[in-house]
This record gives sequence, structure tokens and C-alpha cells, in this order.
Amino acid sequence: MTDQDHLRVTEIFHSIQGESTWAGLPCTFVRLTGCPLRCRWCDTEYSFHGGEKLSLSEILQEVEDLRCELVEITGGEPLIQKNAFRLVKELLDLGYRVLVETSGAVDVGPLDSRAHKIMDLKCPGSGEVDENLWSNLGHLTARDEVKFVLSGRVDFERVYRSMIDDELARPARGAVTGYCRRTGSVMRAYVEVLNLGDTYLEVGNDAAVWLVAYENNSIGHSMTWVRSTAFQFLPFDLAPGESTTMVIDSPPMSGVDWNRMACLVMLEDRPNGLGAYDMLQAAEALPAGLAAAPSTLEMDRRGPKAEVFLAGPHVMSWSATSDVPWIEATPSSGEVPMAVTLTYHPELRAPLETEGTVTFSATGDDMSFETTVVVAVPGSGHRRGARRQAPSRSP
Ligand code: SF4
Repeated sequence: MTDQDHLRVTEIFHSIQGESTWAGLPCTFVRLTGCPLRCRWCDTEYSFHGGEKLSLSEILQEVEDLRCELVEITGGEPLIQKNAFRLVKELLDLGYRVLVETSGAVDVGPLDSRAHKIMDLKCPGSGEVDENLWSNLGHLTARDEVKFVLSGRVDFERVYRSMIDDELARPARGAVTGYCRRTGSVMRAYVEVLNLGDTYLEVGNDAAVWLVAYENNSIGHSMTWVRSTAFQFLPFDLAPGESTTMVIDSPPMSGVDWNRMACLVMLEDRPNGLGAYDMLQAAEALPAGLAAAPSTLEMDRRGPKAEVFLAGPHVMSWSATSDVPWIEATPSSGEVPMAVTLTYHPELRAPLETEGTVTFSATGDDMSFETTVVVAVPGSGHRRGARRQAPSRSP
């Protein structure tokens, strides 16, 4: 055992987690010694000095003795000790779920990406705001959390703006959109990914889409409850400007209120295949359905063509039928999404006919939806939106 296998430890103990979204769960805490910061309201000054020098194997043994699958590495600032990164990795390799509470003043880039970072960024009121390493925000992923201790409005506005400005300064490298629905005991998402950057989104860089299935309920401050998550790597390396589609299922769930279930989809990768993940885009997955836009049109001889855009889960095929001969859909069938041209043929219209309807029917993956577009012509007295669109329906 070399000196490089040791860490200085203030305490190891078992308790109930009191902070973050893990609050209330049994947790083993490993409090490492030392912190370069001196926050005005620090409540763990006793961790600044002293401690006991323990080998990694001694720490792992103490953690094992406490028999708890959730472990938090905290301080002080735990990451000023280089071996903290090794400790985190070894705990993860042993199957523990590891939280790392850090001030955000030390580069978290080398931290094992399986760890859950809880970043306690410093506000001006702490006296240590200049110690924040803002590049750390780029290492945060959907599984991480950020914490601010505020002492007033100045704290709030300064930190909030810093985060927003930092994020907005980053050009978007990818876009993700999707639809979702319940099928059996899982939530299924139909996802489209587009590479907006100038480099490939590579599977080798762990480019993947996450599905977060959550229940909209009166639980906690966010009023939501994440019920299950799943991820899927992109099916191939995505060139700049290229898009692809995916179908992702959540793991089976039980005991949920299915009427309140919804999904988020998130696109992420690790820019150089190393270090932390970078979340490129997140979006609410819309409930699966078929939508046509616009849903009402006015046409005449001078404008006999108009475009309608059909949107919905990409696994569906559609066909169009018109209830009058003088409105033609081109193409008359295809896949979703698609732009469809409607053409008005005045020579086929009977004098008293002033309105026609095109019905789009789509099926796929055990789904069935219908939506209509109403076309009005001169002399009909039709007012936009006066006729109600038939609702889209599912099986
Ligand atoms: S970073 Fe944490 S441990 Fe260090 S001084 Fe601030 S509150 Fe105390």
C-alpha cells in the first residue's frame, strides 16, 4: 500500500440523507478532510483540519460494514484529494450508488460519469462566489443536481443570470423531439434526433437518447415524480445535418397513475468520448397523435394549392381521402411526418359546393389516428375556424 492509496477522512457514518432529491433515504456518508473555501455560513468547519489517514481498502471496508447501497462522498470539499476520484470509481464498480457533494470549485471533469454530482455553487453572500469554476456546468448531466444557498435577491439574480448566459452562449449541437404513449406496463417514446453541429454525433462518444417517464402528481416541490428512465445509443454515427429516428421503451412500471404519466426525452454525448456527459437538448414528448397544420384553409382560383404538414409518431403511415372530387391530396399516402399538397380543381366543383374536407388516417405500431383539414372556397361564407375539426382518436 503506497501513500497514494490513502485519503484523509474526517468521519464515516450512516444516517438519513437530508438534502437533494435523495433526501429521506438511508445513506452512508464519507466525509473527507479539507476545504480551500471559507463560506460565511459553513456548518462543517470541523472538517477543515485533522482527520484520519485511511487507505482506500480501509474506507471501502467501513462502507461495506454499514451495509447501505447509497453512499455520499462529501466534505469539506472532497475533490481536493485526488484519490477521491478513485474512491468514487471503486465504489461504483462495487455496485454502490454514489453521490458526490462538491462546491463546484474543483474540476469535476475527471469524475466517473456514473456518479451523481450534487454541486453546491457559491453565491455572492457566501463570500466565495469567485471560487466557482463555471466550466463545471458543462459537465452536468440530467442525473446531476445543483444547489444554491441564497442570502438575498442579489444572490439569486447573479447566479441565475450566470447560468442562463453560460447556457445560451453554447451553440446547440443537436435537437431532439418526440411523442410518447402507454403500451402495456411501459411508456414508449418515438424520437427524432437531428445533428445541428458541425461534427458527427458518435456512438463511440456515447451519443444517446434518455427517456424519463414521470408522473405529474402533487409530490414534492416539482409536482412530478420520476418513475422510470431508459436510454438508447444512437443507431449509427450521425453526420452534421443528418437525422434519425428511434423507439425507446421505459422499463415496466406498476403502481403508477397512468393518466398522469408523461415523458421527457434528452439527447446527450461525451464530446471527446471521455469525461462527463454533455446534455445537448431536452424536450417534452407530446402525447402520440396525428396533427395537421393548418387545420382550415381558404382556396380560390388564384391560390389553388396549399401545403399541409402532418405530424405524429414516425412509425405511422397515413392515407388521405377527400369528401369532394375538387380537392386533391398529393401524395395521397405516405409516412409521418410529411408535407402534403392540397390542390383545388374549380372545374370539378358543383356550383353549390362551398366546403370540402380531407381526412387523414394514420396507423402503425398498434395505433390509429384520424384528423381532418377543412377547405373553404369563395362564396361559402366560411369563416376561418367556424367548423370544428374532428378530434384525433386513438384505439
Ligand atoms: S465549501 Fe462547504 S465545507 Fe467548504 S467552506 Fe464552504 S460550506 Fe464549508
